[in-house]
Parts: sequence; C-alpha cells; structure tokens
Amino acid sequence: MPFVSDKVKNLPPYLFSEFQREKKKLEDKGVDVIDLGIGAPDLPAPDFIYDKLMHEARKPENHRYSAYSGCLEFREAIAHFYKRSHGVDLDPETEVLALIGSKEGIHNFAQSVINPGDSAILPDPGYPVYRTAVHLAGGKSVLLPLDAENGYTPLFNNLTEDERKRAKLMFLNYPSNPTAATIELNTFSEAISFASENNMVIANDAAYSLVTYDDYKSPSILEAPNAKDVAVEFGSLSKSFNMAGWRIGFVVGNKVMIHALATLKSNIDTSQFLPVQKAAAYALRSDLSVVKANNRIYKERMEKLYAALAEVGIVAEKPKGTLFIWAQIPGDYSSLSFSAKLLDEAGIIVTPGTAFGPAGEGFIRIALTVSTDRLDEVIRRLKKLDLQGGKNG
Ligand SMILES: *Cc1c(COP(=O)(O)O)cnc(C)c1O
Repeated sequence: MPFVSDKVKNLPPYLFSEFQREKKKLEDKGVDVIDLGIGAPDLPAPDFIYDKLMHEARKPENHRYSAYSGCLEFREAIAHFYKRSHGVDLDPETEVLALIGSKEGIHNFAQSVINPGDSAILPDPGYPVYRTAVHLAGGKSVLLPLDAENGYTPLFNNLTEDERKRAKLMFLNYPSNPTAATIELNTFSEAISFASENNMVIANDAAYSLVTYDDYKSPSILEAPNAKDVAVEFGSLSKSFNMAGWRIGFVVGNKVMIHALATLKSNIDTSQFLPVQKAAAYALRSDLSVVKANNRIYKERMEKLYAALAEVGIVAEKPKGTLFIWAQIPGDYSSLSFSAKLLDEAGIIVTPGTAFGPAGEGFIRIALTVSTDRLDEVIRRLKKLDLQGGKNG
C-alpha cells in the first residue's frame, strides 16, 4: 500500500506473532500445544489489588483525566518503594513518571533521546523492543554482545572507540529477558562510570526486578554512585504483580531525562486510568508477600524443568530470577530449527534465541508460565524426542 510509511514497512516482523499463527494452525488440527514462548504471567493479579481497582473505579472523581505525569499518589508510592527496597531517595515531582506499561516508556524514551543518525548501544541478546524503538527514532543500533562465559554482563571493552563516542544512549536489562541473567551492584557501578566517561544516557529496564528466587535481591541501577547523573530505570507491575494487561509501569532517575520524556508524552497520551494507578500504588506499598508467593511458584516450576532438561541433555544456567530458562541447544540444530522441531514433534512452543539478536544463536528461551502439571507433560514429551541429532538449517 502506498499509504504505509517506510518506517512501518521497514519494521522487523514481531516474531512472537509468527509463532502464534503457527500455534493456531496446529490447534486447529487438534494438537494440544503447550506454549512456553510467551513471557507473560499466567496467573491473575492478586485479589487485594483487584479489590482496590474496583473500589477506585466506583469513585466519580477518578473518571477524569489523570495528571500527565501520573497521579501524585502513584508517584509517591514509587518513591516510597525505592526508598524501602533500594535505599534510594527520589523526588516524586521530578524524578518519577508514570507509564502506560514500560514498553510504552521504552519506545517514547528513545524518541526523547535520539536524533536521526544517533546511535544506541543495546544488549544482544536483548528484548526486541529496544531495537525497534531506536529504529523508529531514526537511530542506529549498536549491539553489545553478552555471553554465557561472562555471565551476560556487559563487556564495554568490546566496543570500539568510535562506537563509544557516537552512542548517546545505552539500554541494559537486569534481571534479563531473555537470558535470565542477574548481576551485582558493582556491574551497575561500572556501567555508570562507562556512561559518564562516554557522555551517554543509560537506561536499565528492571521489568523483572522483583521476580527473583530465594535470597537473591536484584539491585537497582540507582543504587550505584552518581547514577542519577546519567541513568534512568524502567519499572513495571506486569511481571511482579501479574498485571500485564493493566498497562502500568514507571520510570525513575535523572530529572532532565524524566522531564524530556514527560514533555514528549504530554503530547501523546494523558497517562493511565486513575483507578489503575491507584491500585498500582497500593500494590507497591504492600508487604510484597504476593510477589514472594509468585516467586515460589516460578521457582518450583524452574527447578522441575531445570532438572528434566539436565536429564535429557539440555544444558542451562540455573536462573536466580525472571520467568525464563535460557537453555543451550543440543546437537547440531540452529535456534530456529530446534524450536521448529519442538513445535512440530512435541507441540511445544519455545522462543528461538535469535529472536533476541544474533548472539542468541545456539539458545532457546523457555518461559515458566504454565503450571507444574503442564510442565510434567512437557517433560514427558521431551523424553520421547531424539534431541542429540540435528541438521543445520
Ligand atoms: C515484559 C517486558 C517489558 C514490558 O513490560 P510492560 O510494563 O508490560 O510494558 C519490558 N521489558 C522487558 C525486558 C520485558 O520482558
């Protein structure tokens, strides 16, 4: 169609939708497909948050437009949460902004930092939205390969002098989708120094910050010294509170960048429905016991699947958080051919590692978003497959 912009025409296909089409085809044929491809919680939002939403939804005053930056009640709850969880002080007026889900914020953030021709450093493998956001802003993506050997920490020394000089923005994502990697505060501190030295903005996507197992506690990038000089952090209630469809998230940190994003957004949207913001505020001020209960469920699933994968010869690093296992492909398969084999021969959807960038070759991402009963069925099917063969393709 002549009316479709080049920008849209040149967008890479959103890979997840292709797998969903294949799934529908198989289901129409009567195949019982088990979907471990979708990285969204399968469980509903907790009752107390839902009750708060219903309560607020009944109040006529909550049916008006929200303040552009989100209501103060939500921004104060975010600041309170950062103080309590990370010991970080935030000014709710200038250092906190409500988002309609962090995906929206990531996209618009690229628009508010990048001029056409600027470049941005992105994790590879990484969440595909960073790349499209940079593309839509007219920028150029510089992929920063992350590898298993180094625990998927960013290796800034691998960037050329030119790449460092030209980059205006860098995205990080810990705990990570798709690799499930977690890091310690010193890595964030190094990232802050790197960004300061090279005069770029750094954004950590902390969508999984609360989805952690056992004693591991994910640091905030804002805990690093001088972080607020160059950094922002994206937060989301989607994964931690099972609120993916509610579309509520936030960004915190450097006030100049928060102001820029708020200015852009005030021309695009008028923030989220007030009852959703107020319910999210209530969730963030809670004792987080529902988050811990969820994490125990994910951990149980992870342990079960992890043990079974080892049994059939699929090697993975045991994650300390997120909804994923990032597993090495056995035999001589490619990411794509192995994922296709799992779908064709076992009716199991996983995501090929290459969906997250070239460095994802050799891996698949398995989401822990089905019940342990369904995982038993996954394991039964895996054990029947011949996994060690393979053909390149
Ligand atoms: C799910 C996800 C998001 C988007 O979360 P929303 O707040 O629902 O938009 C952002 N980043 C990563 C890495 C994710 O996996």
